[in-house]
Amino acid sequence: MPMILVMIGPPGAGKGTQSRLLSEHFHIPQISTGDILRDMARYETKLGLQIKETQAAGKLVDDEILASVIQTRTTQSDCANGYILDGYPRTPSQTRTLEKIARGQNIEIRLVSIDVPRETLLQRLTGRRTCSKCGEIFNVYFRPTKQGNFCDNCGSELTHRADDKEETVATRLEAYEKMTAPLIDYFKESGRLIAVDGTRPVNDVFEEIRSAV
Ligand code: AMP
Repeated sequence: MPMILVMIGPPGAGKGTQSRLLSEHFHIPQISTGDILRDMARYETKLGLQIKETQAAGKLVDDEILASVIQTRTTQSDCANGYILDGYPRTPSQTRTLEKIARGQNIEIRLVSIDVPRETLLQRLTGRRTCSKCGEIFNVYFRPTKQGNFCDNCGSELTHRADDKEETVATRLEAYEKMTAPLIDYFKESGRLIAVDGTRPVNDVFEEIRSAV
């Protein structure tokens, strides 16, 4: 049965990693609003510059911009059998937009909440390195590459996200606690929550989510 899997958790919880694994396993697209916005921020338009500034500060981009991004992406044909949302919704208003989209598509939503304590998140984020080509995620502390700053899969150069710096991480964690974490209770009350412990090894977390889905 088609399903929208919403990955929720603080920055560094492993939403991106688990989304990629789930996407490969269930053959449904992974939609990362962070990635889409980072692409948009590359253009020197008014909107691009606004997004770039907001992301660099670790703040949330406007709900209206997100509504347009998510409407456009989820109405593409590859989303007809469900999809994985990595980083959306993050606010009550975004949740309402998603509920409306899901009703229109006649697809159910499940929220996958990945919980990780704050101390672990900091090291995960500051050590994170992402492949500029295939998107694989490494970590200088927990998952170093075999060949320096180059991807083990495709050999491309790794990047360190500008907003993974310590100063910005604090703002991102605060935005998560204030705006996003309350959404977990909302989905729990309607029986649509899958809660997992994100401190366990990547494959264990994946197995738990897969079997619950
Ligand atoms: P992420 O890659 O999911 O950690 O997102 C990186 C940054 O993109 C966030 O800190 C926000 O500035 C922005 N962003 C991504 N998704 C959203 C969203 N759903 N709502 C608002 N801002 C977002």
